[in-house]
Amino acid sequence: MTEVKSSNLGYPRIGEKREWKKALEKYWSGKWDQARFSREMEHRRLVHLQKQRELGIDVIPVGDFSLYDHVLDTAVTFGLVPERFRSEKEGPVSLDTYFAIARGRQDAVASEMTKWFNTNYHYIVPELEGSEPRLTENRPLHYYKEAKEKLGIDGKPVILGPITFLKLAKGYEESEFGYWLNKLVPLYEQVAQELQEAGVKWVQFDEPILALEVSDSDLEWFRSVYAALNDAAPELNILLQTYFEAVDRYQDVIDLPVQGIGLDFVSDQGRNLASLEKHGFPENKVLAAGVIDGRNVWRSNLQEKSELLSKITDVASPQQLIVQPSASLLHVPVTVQNEEELDPLLQGALAFADEKLNEVSVLTRAVREGSKAVEAEVKESVHAIDQLNQSSSRNVKDVQKNVNHLTEIRSDRNSVYQKRRELQEERFQLPVLPTTTIGSLPQTTEVRKARRNWRKGEWSDEHYDRFLKDEIKEWIDIQEEIGLDVLIHGEFERNDMVEYFGEKLSGFAATKFAWVQSYGSRCVKPPIIYGDVRFEEPMTVKESVYAQSLTEKPVKGMLTGPVTILNWSFERDDIAKEKVLYQIALALRHEVEALEAEGIAMIQVDEPALREGLPLKQVDWKDYLDKAVHAFKLATASVKDETQIHTHMCYSEFKDIIEAIRALDADVIAIEAARSHGELISVFEDHVYENEIGLGVYDIHSPRVPTSEEITNTVNRALQVLNPKQFWINPDCGLKTRKKEEVVPALEAMVKAAYSLRQQLSVKQ
Ligand code: GLN
Ligand code: ZN
Repeated sequence: MTEVKSSNLGYPRIGEKREWKKALEKYWSGKWDQARFSREMEHRRLVHLQKQRELGIDVIPVGDFSLYDHVLDTAVTFGLVPERFRSEKEGPVSLDTYFAIARGRQDAVASEMTKWFNTNYHYIVPELEGSEPRLTENRPLHYYKEAKEKLGIDGKPVILGPITFLKLAKGYEESEFGYWLNKLVPLYEQVAQELQEAGVKWVQFDEPILALEVSDSDLEWFRSVYAALNDAAPELNILLQTYFEAVDRYQDVIDLPVQGIGLDFVSDQGRNLASLEKHGFPENKVLAAGVIDGRNVWRSNLQEKSELLSKITDVASPQQLIVQPSASLLHVPVTVQNEEELDPLLQGALAFADEKLNEVSVLTRAVREGSKAVEAEVKESVHAIDQLNQSSSRNVKDVQKNVNHLTEIRSDRNSVYQKRRELQEERFQLPVLPTTTIGSLPQTTEVRKARRNWRKGEWSDEHYDRFLKDEIKEWIDIQEEIGLDVLIHGEFERNDMVEYFGEKLSGFAATKFAWVQSYGSRCVKPPIIYGDVRFEEPMTVKESVYAQSLTEKPVKGMLTGPVTILNWSFERDDIAKEKVLYQIALALRHEVEALEAEGIAMIQVDEPALREGLPLKQVDWKDYLDKAVHAFKLATASVKDETQIHTHMCYSEFKDIIEAIRALDADVIAIEAARSHGELISVFEDHVYENEIGLGVYDIHSPRVPTSEEITNTVNRALQVLNPKQFWINPDCGLKTRKKEEVVPALEAMVKAAYSLRQQLSVKQ
C-alpha cells in the first residue's frame, strides 16, 4: 500500500427499515417468486455498497451480505449439506435447500443454531457427518464481480476462514480435525486462486477463533493452512482478521504467512495495543486496526481515537495501516438518522453503522492529512459526548453514591439456606415435588393487539388494564383447575422481558428502528442504557398483587435479572460495565422489596443470559461470574427469610458455572433440561447442590404435548441424583410462544405425573 486506507469488515444486512427481513418473509410466504426476491436482494447489496463508498470507505467488503447467515453460506459453498437435505449432486445448492437447512422442512428438522461468539447473533451450526466437501460455487467471486460490474467497486471479499469454520462445525471427533481441514483447504485454495485471477487485491479471512485461547496445535494448523493458501494464490493479499478480543499469541500470529493482520483495539482490554508496543509489527505486513467500536452504539470521542491511532502509528507506519471498525457492523443498527424522536442530546451521542463508517473515514483522513484537516469533526464529537456526560441523566447522585459504596449494602440473606428453608416449608406447606411454571403464558394475537391498541392511544389505560386483568383471571382459574401448586400471573403485559423493564426504569431509551439481526429474519431492538439507572415506581406489583388476590396458592412475582437486562441492552460505555450492572441490580432490589411489601411471598428473578455473558477467554470468567453473582444477590438478598427467591435459566450447560449458580443462593432454581437430561444429571453426580431445584421436564420449544409417563420417567431419572425433597417439577422455559391448546394438556400431564410420583414416593417410605 502507498498510503493509509479506510475499510470495513461487514455491513448490516437488514436495511434501515428491515427491508431485508421483509423480502425474506415475502419469499418464504410465496408472495414473491425467486426472481423477484433475488432482484430485491441484489438491490439491497448494491445500496449497501454504494453507501459505504459514499461514506468514504476505500476498501469495501463484498460477500459479507447473506440471505440468512454467513456460517451457513460457508457450509453451502463447500457442499456441507446435511444428508436429510441433500438433493443436488453437483453445482450450486438451491435457494430452497439453503433455507430448509436453516428453517427445517416438513420431513426434516432444521440444523441447530448457536450464538456467534459473545454476540446475540445466532449462526447455523454446520453438520459435517457423512458429507463430502466440494466447491458448489465460488460465492465470494460472484459477489466481487457483481460489485465491480454494477458499481465499479473493487471490493474485498470476506470469507470465514477454514479453522474458525471447522471449530464451529459439529459431526466429527476432535481427532478428525486434520482430516476435515485437509479436505477443505484445497477448496479454499481454489476459491483463492480464482479470486486472484479475477484481479482481487485483498481478501479478508475471518478467524475470530484466534482471539480465544489458542493451543499449540491450533497454531500449527494456522501456519500450514495459510502457507498453503498463500502458495496457491501468491498475488492475492490475505488479511487475517481477528475480532471480539485480543490475540493472546500475538508474536505467533503476526508471523503467520499472510500479508495483513486485523486486530481489535476496542474489545481487547488494551491487550492488543500492549502487545503491539512490546513486540512491534512486521514492516512487510499491513495492520488493519479496528479502532471504532463495532459492537456498541456510541459515537466515538475522535480525540481519544486519534491518540490511539498515533500510538499505533508509532509502531506501524501509515503506509501499512488500514483504519476500520473493531468488528463487523452486523451487530449494530444501520443509522441514527431515523431516530428523530430521541432526545437530541442522546441522538447526537450515538453512532450506528453509517455514522461509524463516517468516523473511520474521518480518522483515516487525520492520519493522511494531519489532525488539522479534521479539527472540526473531532471537536464536534468531543462536544456531543461531553454534553451527554454532563446531562442530568448521567449525574443521578444518589444512584452513583450507592454504587460507589456497595460494601455498605448487604448482599447476603439474613440467614443461611437451611434456616430459611425451615421457615419457608412452614409458610408454604407445599407437597413434595411441587409443580410450577416459568412465568409467561401464551402471547396470543389478541394479547399483542391489545397492547398495540393501547400504545397507539386507541385504548385507554383503564381499557387495557381491564383486558390484562381478565387474562390474568382466566389463567389463574386455569392453573387452579389443572392443580398446579405455585402459580404465575402470565406476563401478558410484557412484550419482551428486557424491553418491559427498560421502559419503566430511568436511564433507558427505546429506539424506533435500531434493529439488529438475531437469527435468520428475526431482529431484536435492544433498549439503550444511556444514563444512570434508577427505580422510579413499582413495575410489576400491580399485576402480581391482582393475581395473588384471586387465589390461596402462592403466585410468584416475576422479574428479569440484572445480568440479563444488561446483556440484552446496548450499554453505555462511559463508566465501567459493572457499575451499570450494579445500578440495575439496586433498582431491581427496590422492586423486590416492593413486591414483598405487598405480600408477594415468592419472587423469581430470571437470568437466562448469565451463561452466555461469559467472556471469551477463560481467564476472565471468574471476575465476570463474581460480579454477576454479586449483582443477583444485591437484587434479591434484602428480603425476609420466609420470602422465597426463585431464579430461572434456560440452558443446561452447567458445568462451567455450577459454582456460581450455587453462590447465587437462590432458594429455588428452575432450569431447562428436557433435551439434555443425561448431561445435566452428570453435573449433579459430581457436584453437591443443596438448595431446591427444578429441572425442566418437557421441551416447550416444540408444539408436541408430552405424556405423563414420559414426564414421570424423566423425573425418576433426575431423582437418582437429586433428593425428592429438593426437587420441583416445571417445564423448560416460559410458555409465551405456545398455544393454549398445547399448554393446558401439557401442564395437565405434568401435574398428573407429579401425583403419581408422589404416590410412588409415599409407597417407598
Ligand atoms: N419468565 C420468563 C418467561 O417465562 C423467562 C423467559 C426466559 O427464560 N427467557 O417467559
Ligand atoms: Zn427460559
